[in-house]
This record gives sequence, C-alpha cells and structure tokens, in this order.
Amino acid sequence: MEDAERTRVSLQQLRLYIDNHLHDRYLAPPLTVVVAALLTMWVPVWQAALWAGLELLVIAAYIGVYVRFRRAAPAPVQAGLWARRIAVVHGAHMTMWSSIVVWAYQPGDLVNLMFIMLVHVGLISLTVTMSNPSRRLLLSDLAAPTIALIAPPLLDGSLFSLGLTALGTLYIGLMLMVGLKIHASTTEALVLRQRNDELILELEQEVRRDSLTGVSNRRHFVATCQTELQRAARYRHPLALLMVDIDHFKKINDTYGHLAGDQVLRMVAQACAEAVRANDCLARLGGEEFAVLMPETMLDEAQAAAERLRLAVAQLRCPLQDKVVRPTVSIGVAAADERGETLSSLMRRGDHAMYEAKARGRNQVVVAAEREEKPAAAEGSRDSGHAASPSRVSADQADACWSDSRQ
Ligand code: GH3
Ligand code: MG
Ligand code: MG
Repeated sequence: MEDAERTRVSLQQLRLYIDNHLHDRYLAPPLTVVVAALLTMWVPVWQAALWAGLELLVIAAYIGVYVRFRRAAPAPVQAGLWARRIAVVHGAHMTMWSSIVVWAYQPGDLVNLMFIMLVHVGLISLTVTMSNPSRRLLLSDLAAPTIALIAPPLLDGSLFSLGLTALGTLYIGLMLMVGLKIHASTTEALVLRQRNDELILELEQEVRRDSLTGVSNRRHFVATCQTELQRAARYRHPLALLMVDIDHFKKINDTYGHLAGDQVLRMVAQACAEAVRANDCLARLGGEEFAVLMPETMLDEAQAAAERLRLAVAQLRCPLQDKVVRPTVSIGVAAADERGETLSSLMRRGDHAMYEAKARGRNQVVVAAEREEKPAAAEGSRDSGHAASPSRVSADQADACWSDSRQ
C-alpha cells in the first residue's frame, strides 16, 4: 500500500470506528446507571453516583468528538490528529470503567469478584467488537481493561487468584488476536472499496474525455448540452454555442504527417481550453472540429468570447519538424432562442455560421442567423420525430440529427 493510500484508509478506519461507537451512545448511558446501582451493594451510594456522573460526562465528551469529526469531514492527512483526540476521550471512558477494580473490589468477596470480572469481560468483548477498525485505537482502548482484568487477582497472592490472572491473560490474548484478525479483514475491505471508487471515478472521467486532446468528447458534450438547454429553457436563461473548425487542417496532415497533425490538434485544444471560462464545456466533436457550450451567455458575449478564442489560436506557434505552423480556426456563434430550441437546431445554426466563416476567407467569427419563426412542434418532428421540447430529445437523437444535417 502506498503512503497516500494508507493515509486515506486510516481516515476510513476512523470513520468506521466512530460509526460503531456512535451507535453505542444509546447503550452506554443506561448501562452506566445500571452498573452504578448494582455497585451500591459494595460501595456508598455517593461513590457509585459520582462515578456514574463522571462517566456520563466522559460519554458526552467522546460523543462530542465523534460528532465534530463527522461535521469537520477532515482531510486524510488529519487522520492522525483525530486518532489522538479519540484516543484521549475514549481512553478516559475505558479508564473510568476499568477503575471500578480499584474502588469497588472487595478482596475475599466472591460475588463482588464475579461481578467485577463480568463487567471487565463485557468491556473487553465490546471493545474488540467496536474498536477493531483502527489497530491503534484497539490497542489503546484495550490497555486499561487489560490491567483491570489481570490486576485484582494479583492483589492477594493465593493460588486461586493466580489462576484467575492466568485465565484473564489468556482471555485478553485471545480477544486481541480476534480483534486484530477482524481489523485485518476490515482494512482489506476498505482498501478494496477505495481502489474500486478510484477506478470508477477514473472510468467516469475517461468516458467523458476525448483521448487525443483531453477535452470533453462528443457524447459528454451532447449530454451536457441537453441538460443545459433544459435548464436555460425552464428558467429563461441565455445559452450560447460556438462551433469551431481548424482551417486547412488536411494540408497540415498532408505536409507534416498525421502525428504532427495530432500535435496541432492538442495545441489548439489547449489554447481553446485556456480561452474559455470554467463553466463552459469545450469538446472535440470529431476530426478537427470543436464546440464550446456557454451557459448563462448572451449572443454578444459569446461573440466576444469567440473572437478571444480565435485570437488565442491565431497566436499559436506549433513547431513541426523544422517549420513553425500557425493554425487558425473559423467559428460559428449561435444563441438558443426563447422558443425552446432543440440541440440539433442550435448546432445546425452554429455549423452554418461556421461554414459561412470559411466561405468569407477563414480565421474569422460569424454569428448565426436567427431561427425562422415556425411552430416548435413542427420543428421538433422534423428534427427528431418527437415533440420540440429539448427534454424530449435524447442525446443520441440530437447527435444523429445533427450529423444527418451535415451530409
Ligand atoms: P477547412 O478549412 O475547410 O476546414 O479544411 P480542412 O482541411 O480543415 O477540412 P477537411 O474536412 O478537408 O479535412 C479535415 C482533416 O482532418 C481530414 C482528416 O484526415 C483530418 N483528421 C480527422 N481526424 C484527425 C485526427 O484525429 N488526427 C489528425 N492528425 N487528423 C485528423
Ligand atoms: Mg477544417
Ligand atoms: Mg471540418
């Protein structure tokens, strides 16, 4: 296990430890009261009451630390700090229970000895059950009850007491082995879960990414557009789209080769990514064609952004073999109209504007013409065979329609 992974797992172990002990909060207070009541058989009531009162305060303290841990949602590097805090408060709780042996033990009273032994055996079993997620806390939690279980028989040197000490030692040893075994399998499960989560995250990112340039791929772009179009239509927010195509890219490929072309594609994508806002979605739709979705953007703002993007690419210098290539792009800008425009219609308008930019000499920005006035339902049925609402057009349908329109 790498260090970073170990630190993340330590935090998961703490979470599990706290989960176990948070559930215990319903049991610990009544148990304290019952044990204090039974102890009054051997000690003055005030002594038992004082112990119960202090223990209830300690329970409140450790639950307070657990709740603060949950709220703080600490970073993995803080796991050690929280483990120390927990060791202190929960250690106080373990010491309170183990202290019974000091002030309630009555040498020579068999019933008293049995009761105290029962309390400590229970304490150790519960500790092994609940503290096993963290090896460090399991060991520190077991320290006080271990001394308590072994110590009382040691107080007199009889053979019976020594036998009890041997029994206590073996019991503790066995419980420790069990606790560490459970700890090992819990840790293994946590590591596997963590690796699984990381793998899923990586796969999710890969599914959205264009492998050559690292920007979003077409599928993710279309899905994002659908969501944003629905949102823009529902709340009447502006939304714009840029269709970007590298000029004379075939010539670059033909002159310098496909690999050099790939290098230019990566550099153009990088320049575009730096030119757009974090909220925008830049994608490579295929070949040397890119698109930028701009939520919350009016047509004139999108046009200005397109101009910035065009300039950013025009300023690129791509060193290929012993030459320097200066790529340019043609950009079409379209803004979604307020009549519930579909994605295919918006992309088609952006695309036409981009072709117009090519026709006007390339390396320029052209704003798309407004959509013709026609009933939304009619357009929807032409576009997709469905009603015109963007929410009714699936990503694949929009994708297919748009491709069809370019044939
Ligand atoms: P225009 O200015 O009209 O857009 O001309 P163009 O040459 O850029 O457009 P055209 O559609 O004629 O050529 C696009 C080229 O892009 C053709 C194709 O081989 C190349 N291409 C498509 N995908 C890739 C790729 O992944 N890597 C590389 N290196 N080239 C690609
Ligand atoms: Mg091109
Ligand atoms: Mg093209």
